[in-house]
Amino acid sequence: MSREIDVVVVGAGFAGLRALYTFRQSGRSVRVLEASSGVGGVWNWNRYPGARCDVESFDYSYSFSEELQQEWRWSERYATQPEILAYLNHVADRFDLRPDIDLNTRVVSAHWRESDERWLITTDAGDQWNAKFLVMATGQLSTTKRPPIPGADSFAGETYHTGEWPHEPVEFEGKRVGIIGTGSSGMQMTPVVAKLAQHLTVFQRTPNYSVPASNGPVSDAEDAEVKKTYSQRREFARNSPSGLNFPASRISVLDVSDEERESTFEKAWQRWGFGFVLCFKDLILDLEANRYASEFIRNKIAQQIDDPETLRKINPADFPFGTKRPSVDSDYYPTFNRDNVTLVDLRDTPIVSITPNGVMCSDHEYPLDMLVFATGFDVFTGSLLRIDIQGREGITLKEKWSAGPRTYLGLMVSDFPNLFMIAGPGSPSLLSNVVVSTEEHVDMIDGILKRLDHEGATQIVPTEAAVGEWVAHVNERAEATLYPLAASYYNGSEIEGKPKVFMPYAGGVRGYRRILQKVIAQDYDGFTISTPVHR
Ligand code: FAD
Ligand code: NAP
Repeated sequence: MSREIDVVVVGAGFAGLRALYTFRQSGRSVRVLEASSGVGGVWNWNRYPGARCDVESFDYSYSFSEELQQEWRWSERYATQPEILAYLNHVADRFDLRPDIDLNTRVVSAHWRESDERWLITTDAGDQWNAKFLVMATGQLSTTKRPPIPGADSFAGETYHTGEWPHEPVEFEGKRVGIIGTGSSGMQMTPVVAKLAQHLTVFQRTPNYSVPASNGPVSDAEDAEVKKTYSQRREFARNSPSGLNFPASRISVLDVSDEERESTFEKAWQRWGFGFVLCFKDLILDLEANRYASEFIRNKIAQQIDDPETLRKINPADFPFGTKRPSVDSDYYPTFNRDNVTLVDLRDTPIVSITPNGVMCSDHEYPLDMLVFATGFDVFTGSLLRIDIQGREGITLKEKWSAGPRTYLGLMVSDFPNLFMIAGPGSPSLLSNVVVSTEEHVDMIDGILKRLDHEGATQIVPTEAAVGEWVAHVNERAEATLYPLAASYYNGSEIEGKPKVFMPYAGGVRGYRRILQKVIAQDYDGFTISTPVHR
């Protein structure tokens, strides 16, 4: 017997918690189904040492409750994973969300039934929910990727993935540790582990650009200052290119003197973290402009690395800065000056296999006691396509997206009525402060549901034409940038065989917001809204 409910939300991270809060406020019955043993999403899964946000905590947090934002006290500019997880647990308690969340519950299938215009959702325990609306708050980075390296299961030591980190403490002391991967996770973890392990070997395939976090404690004065004008700060973020709190420059790097260029870069380098990308208007739009930024960062990296051979390996050169997600680090580069740290360049000496003893590269074997996969995720679509989702006439999402995801606004898919994604492919998502984008989507969905209520409508689905136009627009916006110049998870390059399409919306948070506002003003243009077929 399935249980009836208005809305099933899959996932209890930033998106799922916000969805539960908002839909419940609107008087709906809501059930959140979460695979893991706790709330928090990525912040519950990614417990590796050094994990923290790279959007400032004041902005990487919810804006929906004035009381919440006034009472919560962030201790650092970039909060650690435990602090963000504590925040999300606080949110779950403060708004009494837990009674409507089922933990340790993985959704395995969701089938649309035209007969009663509802979704039949089945969990791994065989329980079923019958819901009017299904909201996928499954995240972009929630299906880990373990590369198919021969012998991967044969390693006799401890093995971990950053995105499935154990809840129990992991001891590094006295151990020979290997980390495969130098994305944000690998870069955050490396300096911390280097201080603990007997020896750390970092296996790097593609060197990426990183800018310094310039992290530090939040003073009482700064906390008070932000809280005085928090709503303005939030509004600024919502109307900014990426949902951050840095003023995006309107100046081209090509129009300023050498001195001004250098001093602007230097100022952004010292304080802006991820916002470095905004310090001139064209760093991601114009190759010549980008060359100045890429060169500036390469010089900064050179100043931090003592050994010329290590510098040769670590300095990024194959793609323009920012076109593959840059990292925001704390002491990553100087870590390679330590005697107990080795950088292995897999472009010189690729991994041949993993052995019981360690990692075998083409030159020799690196004996290890612990191997950490910081190898990332099946990004954007991984968690959605893992579920057997069937829409009208049994069409599966897998079939529908066989050539890459096709959505309207990153929010809905044609032939899948009443199924919403939060920050899905085709929305700003990972090209933005994801919390800003997430809250915007929840509010959009809430508005849609109210619109359906208003006239007793039971179905909403985007038209095929609207999806086609949106996909074309997403591609157009990406092609107007330098993003296509890098093989990255933005365009499906992280997984062999994944369709190579550009997934996030590169038109900016503000641009996207304006489009949503226009869609609403035109009474949900691009959607078909229908009234009941069974009366
Ligand atoms: P998630 O947090 O991924 O939560 C999704 C939840 O859905 C998970 O708990 C998962 O278990 C659950 N789930 C998935 N499939 C199923 C299923 N079939 N059944 C049941 N449950 C399921 N973004 C930023 O903007 N700034 C940052 O600083 C930042 N830092 C990050 C750091 C790390 C280490 C990682 C991995 C990501 C970071 N991100 C950051 C991106 C991050 O994904 C988003 O900011 C945001 O936390 C996503 O929230 P979410 O609720 O949408 O998804
Ligand atoms: P990632 O950016 O995808 O990085 C994965 C790393 O593993 C890359 O260096 C990749 O190399 C390497 N790799 C993958 N397969 C490999 C193989 N077969 N052999 C050798 N190396 C391999 O993943 P991530 O670091 O977990 O970060 C994912 C995203 O999560 C980030 O971009 C960010 O959005 C978010 N995040 C944010 C923070 C933060 O600072 N707040 C921290 C962690 C994560 P290639 O580049 O060659 O593929």
